[in-house]
Amino acid sequence: MKPAPFAYHRPETVEEALALLAAHGAEAKPLAGGQSLIPAMNFRLARPAVLVDLNRVAALAYVREETDRVRIGAMTRQRTAERDPLVHRRAPLLTEALPHVAHAQIRNRGTLGGSVAHADPAGEVPAVLLALGASFVLRGLGGSRTVPAEQFFTGLFETALAPAELLVEIAIPAMSARAGWSFVEVARRHGDYALAGVAATVTLDETGRCREARIALLGVGAGPVLARRAGKELTGGVPTDKLLREAAGAASAKDIDPPGDIHASSAYRRQLVAVLTRRALERAVARARDAA
Ligand SMILES: Cc1cc2nc3c(=O)[nH]c(=O)nc-3n(C[C@H](O)[C@H](O)[C@H](O)COP(=O)(O)OP(=O)(O)OC[C@H]3O[C@@H](n4cnc5c(N)ncnc54)[C@H](O)[C@@H]3O)c2cc1C
Repeated sequence: MKPAPFAYHRPETVEEALALLAAHGAEAKPLAGGQSLIPAMNFRLARPAVLVDLNRVAALAYVREETDRVRIGAMTRQRTAERDPLVHRRAPLLTEALPHVAHAQIRNRGTLGGSVAHADPAGEVPAVLLALGASFVLRGLGGSRTVPAEQFFTGLFETALAPAELLVEIAIPAMSARAGWSFVEVARRHGDYALAGVAATVTLDETGRCREARIALLGVGAGPVLARRAGKELTGGVPTDKLLREAAGAASAKDIDPPGDIHASSAYRRQLVAVLTRRALERAVARARDAA
């Protein structure tokens, strides 16, 4: 298939890109790695009249360290982030999850910003950033705003981005010294979209009790789902095997209403979430104990 006709612009600065998006309104779409947008255009599921290609906007590709956070430019390639030592040190959950995103060839082009803006409910990156408590810097001609991940993902492939707005940066807060993390998923073949997956961070206090648990689920809702009931079960408790099983049970029974499709029934996805959440929590707690 070939895409419907479109006009093509290749700006070199964020300001130029924003001006083009504002000039063309809802007709225009930013083009990042093109790994989701171009197939959608080829199938004519998307028909933007104007593409604003961000690949020459060098100012959007970076990984920067600050004391209390890591800042990642939206055009940072998935593969670059996966291999970045700073990301590995400061946000190891992202390093652990990225090899599950498609295949290396796709990650060479695909960007972190594209994954976030695309908001696929089975995408690994949105769930990881939700578990990490990340926030997103959105910029329009009128200025910038920062939106926490909890408020950014608003529905099926829907986000808080306004039509002429660009996602310019992902900010990931520093993890506590007593924190552990884990990413697990089940896909039919490596590189396929997951049937279900879990990104978890667990922070312990000085006595070994759970201070905070952020468990984000993918493939089981309209977007990434923060398993609040499961997190509540854990908070304040000593993370014994029994408690981890109870939290995983809460994630599966109370936090989700998973869809069924040709790949997996709703009941199977629920079962996957119970098992994967328990495994993710076990590993996250073990890592938190090692770090403490
Ligand atoms: C065969 C195949 C398998 C895949 N498997 C997986 C998988 O297992 N897991 C997974 O998570 N993904 C998977 N993907 C998708 C891949 O990760 C994409 O790279 C990603 O979803 C989109 O990133 P992109 O940079 O390619 O964005 P694009 O395709 O260029 O854009 C995607 C959408 O985001 C918008 N957008 C992009 N950047 C911005 C920005 N800075 N500001 C505002 N809007 C923006 C675009 O307008 C478009 O609507 C797969 C893709 C393919 C082709």
